[in-house]
Amino acid sequence: MGKIENIAVDRLYWDEALETQSRADWDALKLDLLKKHLHHAYANSPYYRCSFDAAGVHPDDVKSLADIRRFPFIDKQVLRQRQQAVPPFGDLLAVPERDIVYISASSGSTGVPTASPFTARDFADWMDYEARQFWSSGLRPDDRYCHSLNFSLFVGGPCVLGAQKLGALSIHAGTVPSERLLAIAKQFQATAIWTTPSYAWYLGETAIKEGIDPKKDLAIRRIFVAGEPGGSIPETRQRIEALWGAKVYDYYGLSDIFGSCAGMCEEQHGLHWAEDHILVEVLDPETQEPVADGERGELVLTTLKKSARPMIRFRTGDIVSFTSEPCACGRSAQRMLGTHGRLDDMLIIKGVNIFPSDIEAIARKDRELTGEYKLVIERENHLDRLTVEIERIATDGGRDDELAVRFAGHLKSVTGVSAKIVVLPPDTLPRATHKAKRVDDRRSGVWS
Ligand SMILES: [Zn+2]
Repeated sequence: MGKIENIAVDRLYWDEALETQSRADWDALKLDLLKKHLHHAYANSPYYRCSFDAAGVHPDDVKSLADIRRFPFIDKQVLRQRQQAVPPFGDLLAVPERDIVYISASSGSTGVPTASPFTARDFADWMDYEARQFWSSGLRPDDRYCHSLNFSLFVGGPCVLGAQKLGALSIHAGTVPSERLLAIAKQFQATAIWTTPSYAWYLGETAIKEGIDPKKDLAIRRIFVAGEPGGSIPETRQRIEALWGAKVYDYYGLSDIFGSCAGMCEEQHGLHWAEDHILVEVLDPETQEPVADGERGELVLTTLKKSARPMIRFRTGDIVSFTSEPCACGRSAQRMLGTHGRLDDMLIIKGVNIFPSDIEAIARKDRELTGEYKLVIERENHLDRLTVEIERIATDGGRDDELAVRFAGHLKSVTGVSAKIVVLPPDTLPRATHKAKRVDDRRSGVWS
């Protein structure tokens, strides 16, 4: 792989033998990789040796993939603590520092960012995976790919090299003001771009305000998105697609592992997972038992190859659902059906678990609404009260009552929760340019 001059544009798969193998072959491959990786972690990382010993487990105990459940969890807190205890990279590290060629660092809103180290081999493996993922989404050597993610320590930055590896003309745009990004896309007639879903929407609206019709004046036909649940909400995707006249492909990445660990194929039904790199568990957040295929649970990840810093049973805090059903594209890797939100974002309103993404889906579906929304949660007399602010497209409010009743009905049928609906004039709610902040939880002591 990687002979750029020989990449045939018409081939279906980046790595056909791997991508279309049977589920049994996937499991055999993962078990083999898992055993080796656990041995590597135990032999070379002081942290893992100590934590496995403390838990009374040893890599030799692993006879099946389910045996991973005997090993202890780690989470962001552990990464942060170990990095502080053994600076600068922590003792989860399992290679000498001279073997590290690249680090990313998470944007960490609380405290010091955690660094994610890569060896040259880890980095090359990652880029080959990115190329495979882009290929599955239809990116080809004759595309012009505009990478509009942050390059500053952000693990999404180097993904552009995956597009370059598959032979696409790659424009390293980074995060520039939207007017400049539109000018770049227009001048070079870029055919593909990667950004967040809320920014894709904002950028399209900005283009129209500047007199640029994204469908006619720009050549973008594929939009890769990541970082928010919106990319996996069909209604959100379809509205971005209609605005741009392009297809939207959702990707999922994790700053502590890879820029993207999963992405949509051209079928756009779920995100094929990088199963040869990362072992997936989907667990009930309370019981920590695996949930059934298709059910929601917390995503817990174990790296299978990344040697610089193995991640064994990392609790992501992301609530997801998966399926192992065959995909029409012919790829057999399991698919993540949706990222429903962060465990931290899960709202418990009147005892019901609700994610902002549930409400987003309703707001985006109604063609008389702009799709923007805000949730305000208050507590009165020990009772939760949810207010959903939505925006109409029409300038006059003649149909506000009808829109509110319709939205309340959809909300009730989807979530089981009643809410006060406030219909606002267009352009009232703040537009998000990065990760959208759409929840105002005014209850106190809810989590204590
Ligand atoms: Zn597929």
